[in-house]
Amino acid sequence: MKPAAFDYVRAESVAHAVDTLAGAGGDGKIIAGGQSLMPMMNFRLVKPSVLVDINAIAGLDRVERDDSRLRIGALVRHFMTARDPIIARHAPVVSEAMKHVAHLTVRNRGTFCGSVCHADPAAEMPMMTVLLDGRIHAVSSRGTRTIPVLDFFAGSLVTTLEPDELVAAIDLATIPEGMGYGFHEFARRHGDYALAAAAALMRREDGRVKDIRIAVMGVGEMPSRIAAAEDQLEGTELTDKAVGRAVAALRAAISPGSDLNASADYRRHLAGALAGRAIRDAWSRAKEAVPA
Ligand SMILES: Cc1cc2nc3c(=O)[nH]c(=O)nc-3n(C[C@H](O)[C@H](O)[C@H](O)COP(=O)(O)OP(=O)(O)OC[C@H]3O[C@@H](n4cnc5c(N)ncnc54)[C@H](O)[C@@H]3O)c2cc1C
Repeated sequence: MKPAAFDYVRAESVAHAVDTLAGAGGDGKIIAGGQSLMPMMNFRLVKPSVLVDINAIAGLDRVERDDSRLRIGALVRHFMTARDPIIARHAPVVSEAMKHVAHLTVRNRGTFCGSVCHADPAAEMPMMTVLLDGRIHAVSSRGTRTIPVLDFFAGSLVTTLEPDELVAAIDLATIPEGMGYGFHEFARRHGDYALAAAAALMRREDGRVKDIRIAVMGVGEMPSRIAAAEDQLEGTELTDKAVGRAVAALRAAISPGSDLNASADYRRHLAGALAGRAIRDAWSRAKEAVPA
Protein backbone atom coordinates (compact mmCIF):
# COMPACT_ATOMS: atom_id res chain seq x y z
CA MET A 1 0.00 0.00 0.00
CA LYS A 2 1.15 3.52 -0.73
CA PRO A 3 0.06 6.76 0.94
CA ALA A 4 -1.74 9.57 -0.84
CA ALA A 5 0.60 12.34 -2.04
CA PHE A 6 1.80 14.80 0.61
CA ASP A 7 4.32 17.59 1.11
CA TYR A 8 7.18 16.97 3.50
CA VAL A 9 8.79 19.57 5.79
CA ARG A 10 11.76 18.78 7.99
CA ALA A 11 11.28 21.21 10.87
CA GLU A 12 14.37 22.91 12.29
CA SER A 13 12.74 24.14 15.48
CA VAL A 14 9.48 23.86 17.41
CA ALA A 15 8.52 27.33 16.10
CA HIS A 16 9.16 26.18 12.51
CA ALA A 17 7.07 23.03 13.11
CA VAL A 18 4.05 24.83 14.57
CA ASP A 19 4.17 27.60 11.93
CA THR A 20 4.11 24.90 9.25
CA LEU A 21 1.19 23.15 10.98
CA ALA A 22 -0.69 26.46 11.21
CA GLY A 23 -0.08 27.06 7.50
CA ALA A 24 -1.55 23.65 6.66
CA GLY A 25 -5.01 24.82 7.75
CA GLY A 26 -5.79 21.79 9.93
CA ASP A 27 -4.56 19.27 7.38
CA GLY A 28 -0.96 18.81 8.56
CA LYS A 29 0.43 16.00 10.71
CA ILE A 30 3.49 15.75 12.91
CA ILE A 31 5.63 12.69 12.24
CA ALA A 32 7.80 11.50 15.13
CA GLY A 33 8.67 7.77 14.98
CA GLY A 34 6.20 7.15 12.16
CA GLN A 35 5.41 3.69 13.56
CA SER A 36 1.67 4.32 13.77
CA LEU A 37 1.26 7.20 11.36
CA MET A 38 2.91 5.54 8.34
CA PRO A 39 0.76 2.37 8.50
CA MET A 40 -2.34 4.57 8.78
CA MET A 41 -1.21 6.64 5.79
CA ASN A 42 -0.37 3.53 3.80
CA PHE A 43 -3.88 2.23 4.41
CA ARG A 44 -5.16 5.73 3.52
CA LEU A 45 -6.95 5.99 6.85
CA VAL A 46 -5.31 9.42 7.14
CA LYS A 47 -4.27 11.64 4.23
CA PRO A 48 -2.40 14.68 5.53
CA SER A 49 -1.48 17.30 2.94
CA VAL A 50 1.75 18.11 4.83
CA LEU A 51 3.98 15.92 7.02
CA VAL A 52 5.97 17.93 9.56
CA ASP A 53 9.00 15.89 10.58
CA ILE A 54 10.25 16.82 14.08
CA ASN A 55 13.19 14.38 14.17
CA ALA A 56 15.87 17.04 13.51
CA ILE A 57 14.74 19.41 16.30
CA ALA A 58 17.42 19.64 18.97
CA GLY A 59 16.61 19.20 22.66
CA LEU A 60 13.41 17.15 22.39
CA ASP A 61 15.08 13.85 23.26
CA ARG A 62 15.55 14.43 26.97
CA VAL A 63 14.16 12.91 30.15
CA GLU A 64 14.38 15.40 33.03
CA ARG A 65 13.20 15.43 36.63
CA ASP A 66 12.33 18.11 39.14
CA ASP A 67 11.10 17.36 42.68
CA SER A 68 7.96 15.42 41.92
CA ARG A 69 7.65 15.24 38.13
CA LEU A 70 9.42 13.57 35.20
CA ARG A 71 9.44 15.34 31.86
CA ILE A 72 9.65 13.20 28.73
CA GLY A 73 10.50 15.10 25.53
CA ALA A 74 8.79 14.54 22.18
CA LEU A 75 11.73 12.59 20.74
CA VAL A 76 12.29 10.18 23.63
CA ARG A 77 11.98 6.83 21.90
CA HIS A 78 10.67 3.61 23.43
CA PHE A 79 14.13 2.07 23.86
CA MET A 80 15.26 5.25 25.68
CA THR A 81 12.22 5.21 27.99
CA ALA A 82 12.82 1.52 28.73
CA ARG A 83 16.48 2.07 29.70
CA ASP A 84 16.43 5.52 31.21
CA PRO A 85 17.94 5.50 34.73
CA ILE A 86 15.84 8.46 35.93
CA ILE A 87 12.64 6.68 34.88
CA ALA A 88 13.85 3.39 36.37
CA ARG A 89 14.50 5.07 39.70
CA HIS A 90 11.54 7.47 39.92
CA ALA A 91 8.83 5.70 37.91
CA PRO A 92 9.81 2.01 37.82
CA VAL A 93 6.28 1.00 36.82
CA VAL A 94 6.96 2.71 33.46
CA SER A 95 10.17 0.70 32.95
CA GLU A 96 8.20 -2.46 33.78
CA ALA A 97 5.44 -1.61 31.30
CA MET A 98 7.97 -0.80 28.55
CA LYS A 99 9.17 -4.43 28.56
CA HIS A 100 5.91 -5.29 26.80
CA VAL A 101 6.06 -2.67 24.04
CA ALA A 102 6.45 -3.91 20.47
CA HIS A 103 9.69 -5.18 18.88
CA LEU A 104 13.20 -3.82 18.45
CA THR A 105 12.62 -1.93 15.19
CA VAL A 106 9.46 -0.25 16.47
CA ARG A 107 11.13 0.53 19.82
CA ASN A 108 14.07 2.20 18.05
CA ARG A 109 11.81 4.73 16.31
CA GLY A 110 8.52 5.04 18.22
CA THR A 111 8.24 7.82 20.81
CA PHE A 112 6.47 8.07 24.17
CA CYS A 113 4.72 11.31 23.15
CA GLY A 114 3.79 9.91 19.72
CA SER A 115 2.12 6.94 21.39
CA VAL A 116 0.13 9.20 23.70
CA CYS A 117 -0.93 11.38 20.73
CA HIS A 118 -1.93 8.26 18.79
CA ALA A 119 -4.14 7.19 21.76
CA ASP A 120 -4.43 3.50 21.05
CA PRO A 121 -6.58 2.04 23.89
CA ALA A 122 -4.24 -0.98 24.20
CA ALA A 123 -0.93 0.95 24.31
CA GLU A 124 1.23 1.09 27.40
CA MET A 125 2.33 4.75 27.28
CA PRO A 126 -1.17 6.29 27.39
CA MET A 127 -1.98 4.01 30.33
CA MET A 128 1.16 5.11 32.21
CA THR A 129 0.17 8.73 31.53
CA VAL A 130 -3.22 8.08 33.14
CA LEU A 131 -1.74 6.17 36.10
CA LEU A 132 0.83 8.89 36.84
CA ASP A 133 -1.39 11.97 36.44
CA GLY A 134 0.27 13.02 33.19
CA ARG A 135 0.22 16.56 31.85
CA ILE A 136 0.59 17.12 28.14
CA HIS A 137 2.53 20.23 27.07
CA ALA A 138 1.14 21.46 23.77
CA VAL A 139 2.60 24.25 21.63
CA SER A 140 1.04 26.04 18.67
CA SER A 141 1.60 29.34 16.89
CA ARG A 142 -1.17 30.63 19.20
CA GLY A 143 0.85 29.88 22.36
CA THR A 144 1.32 27.02 24.82
CA ARG A 145 -1.06 25.10 27.08
CA THR A 146 -0.83 22.23 29.53
CA ILE A 147 -3.54 19.60 29.22
CA PRO A 148 -4.23 17.33 32.24
CA VAL A 149 -4.48 13.73 31.05
CA LEU A 150 -8.12 13.46 32.14
CA ASP A 151 -8.92 16.15 29.55
CA PHE A 152 -6.71 14.66 26.83
CA PHE A 153 -8.05 11.26 25.79
CA ALA A 154 -11.47 11.50 24.14
CA GLY A 155 -11.94 7.99 22.74
CA SER A 156 -10.16 5.26 20.79
CA LEU A 157 -7.47 7.05 18.69
CA VAL A 158 -9.07 10.39 19.59
CA THR A 159 -7.61 13.21 21.70
CA THR A 160 -8.43 16.83 22.40
CA LEU A 161 -5.19 18.02 20.79
CA GLU A 162 -5.94 20.65 18.13
CA PRO A 163 -4.68 19.99 14.56
CA ASP A 164 -2.21 22.89 14.81
CA GLU A 165 -0.70 21.75 18.14
CA LEU A 166 2.55 19.91 18.73
CA VAL A 167 3.24 18.02 21.96
CA ALA A 168 6.67 19.18 23.09
CA ALA A 169 6.77 17.00 26.23
CA ILE A 170 4.69 15.02 28.68
CA ASP A 171 5.28 15.12 32.38
CA LEU A 172 4.42 12.37 34.84
CA ALA A 173 4.25 12.24 38.63
CA THR A 174 7.21 10.44 40.15
CA ILE A 175 6.55 7.53 42.48
CA PRO A 176 7.50 8.46 46.06
CA GLU A 177 10.09 6.42 47.95
CA GLY A 178 8.51 3.32 49.52
CA MET A 179 5.50 3.20 47.17
CA GLY A 180 5.05 -0.25 45.63
CA TYR A 181 4.08 -0.90 42.04
CA GLY A 182 2.79 -3.72 39.89
CA PHE A 183 2.14 -4.12 36.17
CA HIS A 184 0.75 -7.17 34.38
CA GLU A 185 -0.23 -7.58 30.75
CA PHE A 186 -1.42 -10.35 28.49
CA ALA A 187 -0.81 -10.37 24.72
CA ARG A 188 -1.03 -13.30 22.33
CA ARG A 189 2.64 -12.94 21.37
CA HIS A 190 5.32 -10.96 23.16
CA GLY A 191 5.40 -7.41 21.74
CA ASP A 192 1.86 -7.50 20.35
CA TYR A 193 -0.65 -4.95 21.56
CA ALA A 194 -2.16 -6.16 24.82
CA LEU A 195 -5.51 -7.90 25.09
CA ALA A 196 -5.60 -6.30 28.52
CA ALA A 197 -3.22 -4.91 31.16
CA ALA A 198 -3.49 -3.63 34.71
CA ALA A 199 -1.22 -1.56 36.94
CA ALA A 200 -1.32 -0.71 40.62
CA LEU A 201 0.52 1.66 42.97
CA MET A 202 0.20 1.83 46.74
CA ARG A 203 1.91 2.71 50.00
CA ARG A 204 1.65 0.79 53.29
CA GLU A 205 0.77 2.58 56.50
CA ASP A 206 0.08 0.76 59.79
CA GLY A 207 -0.20 -2.47 57.83
CA ARG A 208 -2.90 -1.01 55.60
CA VAL A 209 -3.15 0.08 51.97
CA LYS A 210 -2.65 3.81 51.43
CA ASP A 211 -2.88 6.03 48.32
CA ILE A 212 -3.80 3.17 46.01
CA ARG A 213 -4.14 3.69 42.26
CA ILE A 214 -5.37 1.06 39.84
CA ALA A 215 -5.44 1.54 36.06
CA VAL A 216 -6.40 -0.74 33.19
CA MET A 217 -6.15 -0.72 29.41
CA GLY A 218 -7.46 -2.75 26.50
CA VAL A 219 -10.90 -2.95 28.10
CA GLY A 220 -12.48 0.28 26.91
CA GLU A 221 -12.13 3.18 24.51
CA MET A 222 -9.21 4.56 26.51
CA PRO A 223 -7.07 3.66 29.53
CA SER A 224 -8.63 4.58 32.86
CA ARG A 225 -8.27 4.52 36.63
CA ILE A 226 -10.86 2.33 38.34
CA ALA A 227 -12.02 4.24 41.42
CA ALA A 228 -14.52 1.53 42.43
CA ALA A 229 -11.67 -0.98 42.81
CA GLU A 230 -9.41 1.53 44.56
CA ASP A 231 -12.18 2.29 47.08
CA GLN A 232 -12.38 -1.40 48.04
CA LEU A 233 -8.74 -1.38 49.15
CA GLU A 234 -7.90 2.09 50.45
CA GLY A 235 -7.34 1.88 54.22
CA THR A 236 -7.78 -1.90 54.44
CA GLU A 237 -5.41 -4.78 55.15
CA LEU A 238 -4.48 -6.56 51.94
CA THR A 239 -6.24 -9.88 52.51
CA ASP A 240 -7.31 -12.30 49.76
CA LYS A 241 -10.91 -11.27 50.48
CA ALA A 242 -10.11 -7.58 50.01
CA VAL A 243 -8.31 -8.27 46.72
CA GLY A 244 -11.29 -10.37 45.61
CA ARG A 245 -13.66 -7.47 46.35
CA ALA A 246 -11.46 -5.06 44.39
CA VAL A 247 -11.25 -7.45 41.43
CA ALA A 248 -15.05 -7.89 41.43
CA ALA A 249 -15.55 -4.11 41.56
CA LEU A 250 -13.11 -3.66 38.68
CA ARG A 251 -14.87 -6.26 36.54
CA ALA A 252 -18.21 -4.56 37.23
CA ALA A 253 -16.83 -1.13 36.33
CA ILE A 254 -15.39 -1.89 32.89
CA SER A 255 -17.19 -2.37 29.56
CA PRO A 256 -14.79 -4.14 27.19
CA GLY A 257 -15.81 -4.88 23.63
CA SER A 258 -15.65 -8.16 21.70
CA ASP A 259 -13.46 -8.46 18.62
CA LEU A 260 -11.55 -11.08 16.63
CA ASN A 261 -8.94 -11.37 19.38
CA ALA A 262 -11.12 -11.83 22.47
CA SER A 263 -14.69 -11.70 23.68
CA ALA A 264 -15.86 -9.04 26.11
CA ASP A 265 -16.32 -11.68 28.84
CA TYR A 266 -12.78 -12.98 28.38
CA ARG A 267 -11.34 -9.46 28.49
CA ARG A 268 -13.32 -8.68 31.65
CA HIS A 269 -12.08 -11.86 33.31
CA LEU A 270 -8.50 -11.20 32.16
CA ALA A 271 -8.45 -7.59 33.42
CA GLY A 272 -9.55 -8.77 36.87
CA ALA A 273 -6.91 -11.51 37.03
CA LEU A 274 -4.16 -9.10 35.89
CA ALA A 275 -5.30 -6.44 38.37
CA GLY A 276 -5.19 -8.98 41.22
CA ARG A 277 -1.57 -9.77 40.34
CA ALA A 278 -0.61 -6.11 39.98
CA ILE A 279 -2.19 -5.30 43.36
CA ARG A 280 -0.30 -8.13 45.09
CA ASP A 281 3.00 -7.08 43.47
CA ALA A 282 2.49 -3.47 44.53
CA TRP A 283 1.77 -4.59 48.11
CA SER A 284 4.85 -6.79 48.29
CA ARG A 285 7.06 -3.98 46.90
CA ALA A 286 5.63 -1.28 49.17
CA LYS A 287 7.63 -0.47 52.27
CA GLU A 288 5.90 0.23 55.58
CA ALA A 289 6.04 3.99 56.29
CA VAL A 290 8.27 4.75 59.26
CA PRO A 291 6.45 7.14 61.68
CA ALA A 292 8.15 10.57 61.77
C1 LIG B 1 4.37 -3.88 14.58
C2 LIG B 1 4.02 -2.85 15.62
C3 LIG B 1 3.81 -3.26 16.94
C4 LIG B 1 3.48 -2.32 17.92
N1 LIG B 1 3.26 -2.75 19.20
C5 LIG B 1 2.98 -1.83 20.16
C6 LIG B 1 2.79 -2.23 21.52
O1 LIG B 1 2.88 -3.40 21.88
N2 LIG B 1 2.49 -1.26 22.43
C7 LIG B 1 2.40 0.07 22.07
O2 LIG B 1 2.14 0.90 22.94
N3 LIG B 1 2.60 0.47 20.81
C8 LIG B 1 2.89 -0.44 19.85
N4 LIG B 1 3.09 -0.02 18.56
C9 LIG B 1 2.96 1.43 18.24
C10 LIG B 1 4.26 2.15 18.53
O3 LIG B 1 4.47 2.23 19.91
C11 LIG B 1 4.23 3.58 17.94
O4 LIG B 1 5.54 3.99 17.89
C12 LIG B 1 3.48 4.64 18.71
O5 LIG B 1 2.13 4.31 18.87
C13 LIG B 1 3.48 5.97 17.99
O6 LIG B 1 4.68 6.63 18.20
P1 LIG B 1 5.44 7.29 17.00
O7 LIG B 1 6.50 8.15 17.60
O8 LIG B 1 5.87 6.25 16.04
O9 LIG B 1 4.32 8.24 16.38
P2 LIG B 1 3.90 8.56 14.84
O10 LIG B 1 3.58 7.27 14.19
O11 LIG B 1 4.99 9.39 14.25
O12 LIG B 1 2.64 9.42 15.11
C14 LIG B 1 1.45 8.86 15.64
C15 LIG B 1 0.39 9.97 15.75
O13 LIG B 1 0.76 10.90 16.76
C16 LIG B 1 0.98 12.20 16.19
N5 LIG B 1 2.18 12.72 16.84
C17 LIG B 1 3.34 12.09 17.04
N6 LIG B 1 4.18 12.83 17.77
C18 LIG B 1 3.52 13.99 18.01
C19 LIG B 1 3.84 15.16 18.73
N7 LIG B 1 5.02 15.31 19.36
N8 LIG B 1 2.92 16.16 18.79
C20 LIG B 1 1.71 16.03 18.18
N9 LIG B 1 1.35 14.93 17.51
C21 LIG B 1 2.24 13.92 17.42
C22 LIG B 1 1.13 11.98 14.70
O14 LIG B 1 0.73 13.12 13.95
C23 LIG B 1 0.22 10.79 14.48
O15 LIG B 1 -1.12 11.22 14.42
C24 LIG B 1 3.39 -0.94 17.57
C25 LIG B 1 3.62 -0.52 16.24
C26 LIG B 1 3.93 -1.47 15.27
C27 LIG B 1 4.19 -1.00 13.86
